[in-house]
Amino acid sequence: MSGRQWPFGETTLWDGRTVFCRGTWEGLPVFAFRGRPCAAPKGLLTRRQLRAKGQRPGGQDPVALLMFRHVKPFRRVELCELFREDLAVPVRPMTPAKEKALAAANQARRFCHTHQGHVDHFVRGPKKQCSVCFSADETTYEQEAA
Ligand SMILES: [Zn+2]
Repeated sequence: MSGRQWPFGETTLWDGRTVFCRGTWEGLPVFAFRGRPCAAPKGLLTRRQLRAKGQRPGGQDPVALLMFRHVKPFRRVELCELFREDLAVPVRPMTPAKEKALAAANQARRFCHTHQGHVDHFVRGPKKQCSVCFSADETTYEQEAA
């Protein structure tokens, strides 16, 4: 191994603050998890953190990335986007039309394309089949794979 994969560095934020970071990735500064050296500075939040505050990125481009690790069975390092909290906008409220569209989309997922009928669960597979049609069709899949 030669050196750190994520060398420490410095970056200047949009508001003029100079902070430590863990290098860059595709032109964006990479920050570490809270509590670690080079932690993400105040005012930068992930999509989910914004959502927890009832906000959304609102079309802004990510200004930095957050590096985080998965624990053992899935152990790996991943990056996610960080957005500016001051540019975030409120989540759009649920409307009757939106509810209707979501209900229609969920209804469509319960339509079996093989026996052309609605079922009580989501259909699956490339053929969008209910579980009955899917298991009846399993032999076909095996023949195709062979
Ligand atoms: Zn079916």
